[in-house]
Amino acid sequence: MIYADNAATTKPSAAAIQAMLPYLEDVWGNPSSLYQAGQKAAEGLWDARERVAACIGASPREIYFTSGGSEADNQAILSAARQGARKGKKHIISTAFEHHAVLHTLNRLEKEGFEVELLDVGRVGNVTAQQVERAIRPDTCLVTAMYANNEIGSVLPIADIGAVCRAGKVPFHTDAVQAAGHLPIDVQAQNIDLLSLSGHKFHGPKGVGALYVRRGIPLLNLIEGGAQERGKRGGTENMPAIAGMAAALEESCAHMERNTEKLLAMRRRLVEGLSQIPHSALNGDPVNRLPGNVNFCFEGVEGESLLLLLDDRGICASSGSACTSGSLDPSHVLLAIGRPHEVAHGSLRLTLCGENTMEDVEEILRQVPQVVDYLRNMSPLWKDKLSGKRAFVL
Ligand SMILES: *Cc1c(COP(=O)(O)O)cnc(C)c1O
Repeated sequence: MIYADNAATTKPSAAAIQAMLPYLEDVWGNPSSLYQAGQKAAEGLWDARERVAACIGASPREIYFTSGGSEADNQAILSAARQGARKGKKHIISTAFEHHAVLHTLNRLEKEGFEVELLDVGRVGNVTAQQVERAIRPDTCLVTAMYANNEIGSVLPIADIGAVCRAGKVPFHTDAVQAAGHLPIDVQAQNIDLLSLSGHKFHGPKGVGALYVRRGIPLLNLIEGGAQERGKRGGTENMPAIAGMAAALEESCAHMERNTEKLLAMRRRLVEGLSQIPHSALNGDPVNRLPGNVNFCFEGVEGESLLLLLDDRGICASSGSACTSGSLDPSHVLLAIGRPHEVAHGSLRLTLCGENTMEDVEEILRQVPQVVDYLRNMSPLWKDKLSGKRAFVL
């Protein structure tokens, strides 16, 4: 099997699994308990906090463990909104191609009377710091912009956006779920106030994430309960997952440079090879892009069918995001970059990791053109295009 869907989830690394085992086998005490068996777990919790913090240039007291990226996004955005409302500030700036964990939280706030401004991401699929700067108003209470897009891989100019937010005295949150462990993060240098990350996107376990909150930024508690996470997130800590995530993040950051180089070579080959398919187009920013992300539209092809046929041939890929593949709606990200509905349905996302090889890439390049051809030959729509009854879009 060739796994090329690392933006959906990643295989837990040996280091992550090794780091989890002690908390399942021996150190299973509750970190809140005062006896030694609990305190040993509490030490592990602090150790994980220090390690996660070190990977992003934060201090351990600024790290809050959550159940994943979605919870971290919800908590960051709802906190900033609540804080803003107190001062009469109810304007929020974001982008049109955020993850649904962000967009749906913003929808909820809109219903509560907040004004949400989604910046246009253009044809290339990116935003500039100037766009953010122009949008900031005296009543803006939050800018939330993702570090890297999960579908088309665009990498946003986060340090520049951070700088204009700092200058405008507006809190800046970034959903860095696709960036953590893949791109360098320094919350100080990049002026980030709130940052979300998720264990299972960098070879850690699922169901665990972290929210970085700059000292002095107030945090709303979403889950009432005990005094865990300094009273900001009730519930007994998921120690195995937290330890696994810390180990995975550390390892991913240590191998980042080497992996990036390898991924860039594989991406180059994939883009070059898939571009040979007639009436196809690369989606997203060709340059400022996650090194392992390739996303193409193939005209006259239906995304789901493409995925099922590739699955039969041993290739795991995705069309849009996993969260939307249950529905027939085209990806909001592809629509945001101006792809027409008809083409947005025929997208293929391949996301590689350091474990993929050039042989995987060559196999993908053998299979995809065959499958695209096969589907086009079955399509009445495609026949109309070939005969000139309908126009080509790509
Ligand atoms: C996967 C993902 C999330 C959600 O993270 P979970 O840990 O699965 O809740 C949020 N944002 C982005 C950009 C993602 O890719």
